[in-house]
Amino acid sequence: MVRIGLGRDLHRLVSGRRFLLGGVELPSPVGEQGHSDGDVLVHALIDALLGAAGLGDIGELFPPSDATWQDADSLHLLAIAFDKVKAAGWSVVNIDAVVTCEAPKLLPHRAAIRASVAATLELPIDAVFVKGKTNEGCDSLGKGHAVEALVVCLLERA
Ligand code: MG
Repeated sequence: MVRIGLGRDLHRLVSGRRFLLGGVELPSPVGEQGHSDGDVLVHALIDALLGAAGLGDIGELFPPSDATWQDADSLHLLAIAFDKVKAAGWSVVNIDAVVTCEAPKLLPHRAAIRASVAATLELPIDAVFVKGKTNEGCDSLGKGHAVEALVVCLLERA
């Protein structure tokens, strides 16, 4: 059996924060605001995995009201979610993602982002892909006020 999952997240971009995608820090004068480290790609990925397995969502697993997750490393949250997905008998087939922001450019960091996510999910690098898009200057994303991630994943269970 296979199942598909979809995740989406958006974080405001503010000064004094790191700009993290898939656990990789990109050079940027602004970064993601958030209760945890704000890694928008990892948050969308967690929702895609949990959704595909029918195991809830990131807000249920890691409530912002819980001080445990203050400034949490999102890759650590991903590892916890992945453990739950594996415990339910699922393995990940592939991940595909789109990150939208005006800056910084994702492409120079794509290989590192893919490698980081693949390592956390015990996948070969070619099973993880991510594209960077701009919003052509439109709306909050285009004005540089926020970054958005969309992620789909495929799970299979024997
Ligand atoms: Mg988030």
